[in-house]
Amino acid sequence: MTVKVDVKSFPMFINGQWVASQSGETFDVLNPATGDVVAKVAKGNEADVDNAVEAAKQAFENQEWREMKPKDRANVLNAISHQIVAHAEELVYLEVISSGGTVRRVSSNDILQMADLFQQMASFVVDYPFSETLPVPPFPGPSHNFVWREPIGVCAAITPWNMPMLIASWKIAPALAMGNTIVIKPASYTPLTTLKLAEIISNVVPPGVINVVTGPGKEVGEYLAGHPGVDKIAFTGSTEVGREIMKLASATIKNTTLELGGKSPNILLEDADLEVAIPGSLFGVFLHSGQLCESGTRLFVPDTIYEDVVKALVENAKKLKLGNPLDQETDMGPVVSEKQRDTILSYIETGKKEGATLAYGGNEVTIEGCEGGHFIEPTIFTDVTNDMKIAREEIFGPVLSVIRYSTVEEVIDLANDTIYGLAAGVWTRDVNKAYDITRKLKAGVVWINDWHMLRNDAPFGGYKQSGIGREMGKHSLDAYTQLKHVHTSMVPQVEKRSWYQILFSQPE
Ligand code: NAD
Repeated sequence: MTVKVDVKSFPMFINGQWVASQSGETFDVLNPATGDVVAKVAKGNEADVDNAVEAAKQAFENQEWREMKPKDRANVLNAISHQIVAHAEELVYLEVISSGGTVRRVSSNDILQMADLFQQMASFVVDYPFSETLPVPPFPGPSHNFVWREPIGVCAAITPWNMPMLIASWKIAPALAMGNTIVIKPASYTPLTTLKLAEIISNVVPPGVINVVTGPGKEVGEYLAGHPGVDKIAFTGSTEVGREIMKLASATIKNTTLELGGKSPNILLEDADLEVAIPGSLFGVFLHSGQLCESGTRLFVPDTIYEDVVKALVENAKKLKLGNPLDQETDMGPVVSEKQRDTILSYIETGKKEGATLAYGGNEVTIEGCEGGHFIEPTIFTDVTNDMKIAREEIFGPVLSVIRYSTVEEVIDLANDTIYGLAAGVWTRDVNKAYDITRKLKAGVVWINDWHMLRNDAPFGGYKQSGIGREMGKHSLDAYTQLKHVHTSMVPQVEKRSWYQILFSQPE
C-alpha cells in the first residue's frame, strides 16, 4: 500500500467535533509490526466521558433523530455504507498500522463486511415491526393494544483491539438503526479507525449521535460503564473484564450485551476430507495470528488418523509467511503488543512444562525491516489433554492444541468441557452426523466443514461465559430497543367496566 495519511495526532470525537482531552494529556499508539509511534491520541478522563455522554443525551432528545421514519433511517444507514467505501483506503491503512491485521484481510474482508453491514441494517429497518397491533380481546373488554419498539437511549460501546473497526460497527450499526445515540470507548492499542469512523459517520448524522472517548479501560471504560447517563452497554472483550462490566452496569440496571472470550473446539471426524479440513483448521486458528475470539484453538483428532493429521498440519503450517502486514504477500502479521507477545510465549512455556509436545513453532521471530515488531511462529502442540492449561485458557495467539479422542460421544463431552461457548466446528463427509453433533455442541455458532464464516444477516454471540446477547442479524436490533405496550380503552361507560369490580365491591 502506498497511501500516506497524517496519523500523528488524534483528539477525541465528541458532539460532531474533534476535541482535545480536558487534561491535555495524550498517549502513543504503536505499530505492532515495527514498534514505531504512529499516532498521539487524546487521553480522556471522567470529565471527557461526562461531556460525551451529555452530547449523546442531547442528541437523543432530538425528536428528528429519534423518530425518523424507517425509510429515512435506511437512507442514513446506506449513506454510512457509502462513506465507508469512500474512505476505505484510509480506514484500511489505519487499521493495519495499529492492529497488525494483514492488509489482505482488512481490505478484502473487514471493510466490505462493514459496508455491507450498514446496508443490511438498512434493509432490516424498513421491515422492522416498530409498531404491532394486537387483536381486540373479548375479555375483560374491548381495547386497542399496540406493542411499540422504541430506542433505549444513550448506548456505551466498549471494544477490543483485535478487529477494532469491524467490532465497533457491529455496535454502531444496530444502535443507530434503532434511533439510539452512542459513546464508544475503543481499546487503547487501536483507537484510530474508530475515531475516523465517527468522523465520517458524522457527515450524515446529527452532532452527538456518535461520540468517541479514548483512554485507559480502568479509568475511562469503568467510568463509562457505570455512568448514570448511559442506558445500555455493549461490550466486547475478555470474559474477565466482562464480569466487571456486569457489576458496573448493575448500579443503574443497564441493559447489557456482552461478547466475550472463547476456547472453541474443532472436531475432525474420521471421514473428514483432509484436503479441506487441514488448511481449514489452520485457517480457523492462525488467521490474524490467532487473535480472534472465535478461533478454533482445540483441534480434536481421532486416534486412528492422529499421526497423519499432525504431519499434514505441520507441513501446511510451514507454508505460512510471517511479515509486515502492509505487504500483500504476508499471511500472518505481528501480535498486537509486547504484553500480548509475553502472554503468548508464557503459555507456550506452560504447554511444554505440562507435557504437551511442541510439534511446530513456539518461537518469536525477527522480520527484516520490522525488527521492532512482535512476531510469533504458528505453533502446534500435540499430545495435549483437555485438562491442560493451554487447552482451558484463552491464549489469544497463534497456538493450536491437538487433542486425541476415540469415540464421538467422548469428543462431544470434551468439546463442551469448557467455560466458553462461542464457536465450534465439525469436519465430516456425513452431513447427518454433523447435524447430530451440532445439536449437542454448546456454542453460539457451529461451522460444518468451514471456519470463521460470519454473516451480517446471522446472529453471532456466545453460550455460557462467552457472553450474553447476539450481534449482527435481525436479532441484534432487538438488543437496541425496548418494548412499550400501549392500551387504549374502547369502553367509555364506567358501569360497563366490569373489571373495576376487582377493586370496587359496590359500584356507584
Ligand atoms: P479486554 O477485555 O482487555 O478489553 C476490552 C475493552 O475493555 C478495551 O477497550 C479496554 O480498554 C476496556 N477495559 C479494560 N478494562 C476495563 C474495565 N475495568 N472497565 C471497563 N472497560 C475496560 O480485551 P482485549 O484484550 O481488548 O481483547 C481481547 C478479548 O476480547 C479476548 O478475550 C477475545 O476473545 C475478546 N473478543 C471477543 C469477541 C466476541 O465477539 N465474542 C470479539 C473480539 C474479541
